[in-house]
Amino acid sequence: MDKAFNAPSGRPVRSTKEYIALEDTYGASNYKPLDVVLTRGEGVYVWDVEGRRYLDCLSSYSAVNQGHCHPKILAAMTEQAAKLSITSRAFRNDQLGLLYEELCALTHSHKMLPMNSGAEAVETALKVARKWGYEVKGVPAGAAEIVVASENFHGRTLAIVGFSTDPGSRAGFGPFAPGFRIVPFGDAAALEAAINPNTVAVLLEPIQGEAGVIIPPPGYLKRARALCTEQRVILILDEIQTGLGRTGTLLAEEHDGVEADLTLVGKALSGGFYPVSAVLSNREVMEVLKPGEHGSTFGGNPLACAVARAALRVLIEEDMIGNAARIGAYLLAALKNIRSNRIKEIRGRGLMIAVELYPDAGGARADAEALMQRGILCKETHGSILRIMPPLVITRDQIDEALPAFNAVLPG
Ligand SMILES: *Cc1c(COP(=O)(O)O)cnc(C)c1O
Repeated sequence: MDKAFNAPSGRPVRSTKEYIALEDTYGASNYKPLDVVLTRGEGVYVWDVEGRRYLDCLSSYSAVNQGHCHPKILAAMTEQAAKLSITSRAFRNDQLGLLYEELCALTHSHKMLPMNSGAEAVETALKVARKWGYEVKGVPAGAAEIVVASENFHGRTLAIVGFSTDPGSRAGFGPFAPGFRIVPFGDAAALEAAINPNTVAVLLEPIQGEAGVIIPPPGYLKRARALCTEQRVILILDEIQTGLGRTGTLLAEEHDGVEADLTLVGKALSGGFYPVSAVLSNREVMEVLKPGEHGSTFGGNPLACAVARAALRVLIEEDMIGNAARIGAYLLAALKNIRSNRIKEIRGRGLMIAVELYPDAGGARADAEALMQRGILCKETHGSILRIMPPLVITRDQIDEALPAFNAVLPG
């Protein structure tokens, strides 16, 4: 065999140190991961190449809500992969229609458009909203505006980072697309003031995940919904992280009793097996797209659809959403019991939880590293916030087993 190739996957062939050295030598350094090299996952646990077991408290930012390597999703994936993987949308396939039907029924949507990554779903929604604005609302050509929130996270493409307020995401990548207005998240009056006759859409996360699990004040999303309806503006909710059970309901919008015009899902839509995302829509908005106006080579392929169908089925059949609500409340209460004068706030909904430390409390990176030493993987965000988001299949016993580590580390 050519010496450029290592042994096929299976048994680890190198040590933790060697794998890290390979990544550091050849990889772009756009991430700063914890120094743990994982090789296997099952349910809420992952194992590193040295055989150590960890509780996954990040769930790949909510992509493995169903737990690692869920056997039923795996079976659907291998079965479909052996049968037909991709057709392109030049032809039809026997999985896409079934996914449409099942996901639309679950989410009370009329229409759906499949993509791959979350960012592509966001881009799709922005394109659809603008086109709707010109063709249906009658906004003058080129004048469409979309209102977004400060501290948003919607992905990494140029259009999206152009309306980020995070300097790290944005600096050095301009010039950016015009047509976006940024208002403070959670401030309904500011949102109202930003909407004008050229506004075509408001794009929000129901709970801001990357910003550190920021829950808007009660009534904010309801007010946003009402404003959008009154002013004839499309409400786009990015549920790529909050959706599919994470907060204890199928979609986080349910907590606020609202329905978006466009809902974006991704991440857990495939149970972590494959990039699958979707734009869910009411009929009027999605119908502005005509053949040839938008697409994706891999979007809607039969493998993606079969995986997504299985991922949705186990989410419902195994009551993972109910579990997220019950276990999430239990974990939140248990974390709130930790006595530590380093902790500024602990907040969350379902199994989307954040521990925010005081800015001068030494930073959360050291906590993430100390938790890793004790067999728990989570990641800091914004320097002083730890997100705790285990897979939705976690049990009370597994939480109880993990609590002593949090009790030992968080007091500092
Ligand atoms: C992760 C995420 C995205 C982007 O998804 P990718 O698959 O990484 O492109 C968009 N919006 C939210 C809220 C996210 O959490």
